[in-house]
Amino acid sequence: MTTEIVASLIQKMGKDLVRTDPKTLQEFARDMTENPAGLPDLVVYPLSSENVRTVLSEANRLKVPVTCVVANTNLGGLAIPQQGGIVMNLTRMNKILEVNEADQYALIEPGVTWQQMSDHLEQNHPGLRFAYPLSPPETGIVPNCIMDGLANLSLRHGSASQWINALEVILPNGETLRTGHLSYGGRPCTNAPFPNLNGLFVGFQGSTGVVVKMAVQLWPSRKYRKRAFLLAYDVESAYGFSNHLAKQDLVDDVGTLSLASGKMLFGEYRPLYRDPNEPLLFIYIDLSSNYEKDFACKQEILIDMVAEWRAQGAKFDGPLDLDELVRIEPRFGKFAKFPTRLDFLLDHPGGGLTWVGTYGPTSRFAEGYKKGAEILAKHNLPPVVVCRPMGAGHFGVLRWITVFDRDNEKEVAQISAVNRELADMAIEMGFFPYKTPQWVWDRYAQRINPAFRQIIKDVRHLLDPNGIMNPGHLQFP
Ligand SMILES: Cc1cc2nc3c(=O)[nH]c(=O)nc-3n(C[C@H](O)[C@H](O)[C@H](O)COP(=O)(O)OP(=O)(O)OC[C@H]3O[C@@H](n4cnc5c(N)ncnc54)[C@H](O)[C@@H]3O)c2cc1C
Repeated sequence: MTTEIVASLIQKMGKDLVRTDPKTLQEFARDMTENPAGLPDLVVYPLSSENVRTVLSEANRLKVPVTCVVANTNLGGLAIPQQGGIVMNLTRMNKILEVNEADQYALIEPGVTWQQMSDHLEQNHPGLRFAYPLSPPETGIVPNCIMDGLANLSLRHGSASQWINALEVILPNGETLRTGHLSYGGRPCTNAPFPNLNGLFVGFQGSTGVVVKMAVQLWPSRKYRKRAFLLAYDVESAYGFSNHLAKQDLVDDVGTLSLASGKMLFGEYRPLYRDPNEPLLFIYIDLSSNYEKDFACKQEILIDMVAEWRAQGAKFDGPLDLDELVRIEPRFGKFAKFPTRLDFLLDHPGGGLTWVGTYGPTSRFAEGYKKGAEILAKHNLPPVVVCRPMGAGHFGVLRWITVFDRDNEKEVAQISAVNRELADMAIEMGFFPYKTPQWVWDRYAQRINPAFRQIIKDVRHLLDPNGIMNPGHLQFP
């Protein structure tokens, strides 16, 4: 079957776009995480929606699995071809097709990266801004939006699926589905008033079709901007303050990083020791405005607010301007401009990076930090914890990050066990892992409402009756 599909795709697309050499196949067999590997049989590099249609039609005819990928950095093992077959590498479909300044949206292809969007807006549309995650600059916008990721404007604009106005999708049977205002050829400035069929492709981990165009929201850029850090010495004040601030409609972003994350930035591989005089958490804050007076006023309010919390017993240092911090220690420059590359998470000798990243109630951040730190300490791992309120403080992200040696089996087994322990605890507290790895579905399937599970299965079956799209992921027993 592989020989047949390779021959047919080479004939239809040309041999440059179809690869079967072992080096290429190995490249897509695993990611940075502890999730199990899966070797593809071939990798295809479509240049157009027509190429995507050709691959899907052939794969559907011969019932060969298809797994899409852009940068393979989702950290849930989601682009690993668990059942082999075709990896569809979408990096070459990377055009920004339109930026509409008046109606504030961009229409993009699936391989467009965060860096590309940032450069494009800066050079051509400086009046508009987009949101940027902490993922490497070469990672994809479309995968992040359909996987409901988060970024530096998620406090204002929610998780990434909420920025999607409309989609064009090639379905496994080769048909083209257009949602929202793309469905009749209108301007994709919103999904309203249509039924939100974007949802058929959000959170489905590439199992319902291949997104070939996405219209995403853009927002007005701000003339005055500041990024500042507060150093916090107790957990309750740190999370109490950041949650309070999130609800004031004052800042663009607020989040907390544990001390261990900061130490990793300064080159420690697994920082375990904390001097009692060191802060426990860093609170980072983004402020912006288009008006000088408003900007000055916002800064004043922030300083007053910090003073009020101090007067009530919170131990904070700062706020310290990021620009000043960078002058003192250039390594803080990693946070000066997004997108950025957090090389301390990526370029260490073991090469492994994983997390239990969850969404849930911000009111339980402090409890989650403490319980997670206890679990990690038990396993001699540092408390690398990042939290961020999102959607105006309605919910937030709580995630524990671990770096490890991918080639050390003992360590991989240890990290897998720790992640399960962390996830058990998070789920008890009302958080659920996003970009959800298969082990999470396996472990918690029985807790999930049976009708909910069935509808997910039914939707997949409706759109992909032969089950060729990313099998082995988002799978319920
Ligand atoms: C250091 C680091 C920091 C990170 N920080 C953040 C962060 O702050 N916020 C955040 O949200 N994420 C973060 N991530 C996770 C990830 O990097 C981002 O979500 C990124 O945008 C994913 O893009 P990708 O190109 O790697 O997606 P991939 O891993 O290639 O794909 C993700 C999923 O989407 C599917 N898919 C891809 N394209 C399509 C398509 N066109 N149609 C259908 N299915 C498709 C794939 O099959 C897979 O299931 C981080 C990762 C790292 C390594």
